[in-house]
Amino acid sequence: MRIVYVDNAATTAMSDKAISAMTPYLKEIYGNPSSLHTSGQIAKEALDEARARVAKCLNADPREIYFTSCGSESDNQAIRSAAVNGLKKGKKHIITTAFEHHAVLHTLKKLEKEGFDVTYLDVHENGIITAEQVEKAIRADTVLVTVMYANNEVGTIQPIRQIGEVCSKHGVVFHTDAVQAVGHIPVDVKADNIDMLSLSAHKFHGPKGVGALYCKRGIALNTFIEGGAQERGRRAGTENIAGIVSASVALEEACENIAVNSKKLSALRDKIIDGLLKIPHSRLNGDRVHRLPANVNMCFEGIEGEGLLLLLDDKGICASSGSACTSGSLDPSHVLLALGLPHEVAHGSLRISLSVYNTDEDAEAILKAVPQVVEYLRNMSPVWEELKKGERKHLI
Ligand SMILES: *Cc1c(COP(=O)(O)O)cnc(C)c1O
Repeated sequence: MRIVYVDNAATTAMSDKAISAMTPYLKEIYGNPSSLHTSGQIAKEALDEARARVAKCLNADPREIYFTSCGSESDNQAIRSAAVNGLKKGKKHIITTAFEHHAVLHTLKKLEKEGFDVTYLDVHENGIITAEQVEKAIRADTVLVTVMYANNEVGTIQPIRQIGEVCSKHGVVFHTDAVQAVGHIPVDVKADNIDMLSLSAHKFHGPKGVGALYCKRGIALNTFIEGGAQERGRRAGTENIAGIVSASVALEEACENIAVNSKKLSALRDKIIDGLLKIPHSRLNGDRVHRLPANVNMCFEGIEGEGLLLLLDDKGICASSGSACTSGSLDPSHVLLALGLPHEVAHGSLRISLSVYNTDEDAEAILKAVPQVVEYLRNMSPVWEELKKGERKHLI
């Protein structure tokens, strides 16, 4: 069976370039960059080059890039560091949104238990928050604003540049989880007024287990893993050279192709959205314009997302109903609830996240399979029966 993989917001296939970039560092060049001998020093050079490559893609200085093990680690380190350093000045208020990734939300929940005060900004129905909302929430004791660049479920792009301006005006540290944005849409840490940014290689066709944290010079960054002096003393542990080199090559490749890829992807995305909206009582979640080029997120009334996924999987289509991290639980997605969707509607969600490896043929397969599966599930659904008989009101 032909597999149609459209769960690229969960993880992506590695590009050929990223795989070839990795192999020399698994075979011949396995030295430890902290060693003084030639083998170590060659690895050290590769590490420096990778850092420079990542910095260039973000318009940062190489000294502002710290490699980590994943996007979640970058989020944890950035948020905790800014919070703890704020507390030293007696400040303990943090601003975020209700629809962040759990790497952010769970870190903040923990900080709340430790005495921090967190404001969760309401997300508009289109999946976007505004810089005005952020500015209104800023207090004298605000230490940090953390707002994601683009949402991993509904694909909405936030007004990061304006939020950054507001934070810089008020002297508040601004962190953004840009895991879904970097390599997919242009990101410029200087123009966007970003103090700290998290990224993850496996979301842009790089390897799993490699992340990076950008931290602007002058913004304090605390050590997250104690030990050796790697990553300028901010994260101990022998560097994952093969992974880091590969990640930097994948990022460079993704950034060089942003314009071409987003044109191709948004055409494919729009074709799928328009086709699926023909299904009665369906809706697109998240703003249609301020949206990642590869994201489709829809709800279909009267069905469960889980059933939809399993039946699509039977037809060779790998999609998702929300984020990979929440699937497995029966709660509806916190992101869709944050957009104000009723529980019953949020349950019937489908996320299709594309990559440049998807084809028109894939789109055709999706447009054939989804309406069939939705109809099949609706025919078995007691809720749909009630909706049809008019015993229950349509919500979409
Ligand atoms: C995937 C993802 C993360 C986590 O990245 P990992 O490298 O898997 O830890 C964080 N934030 C967002 C928005 C993501 O999509």
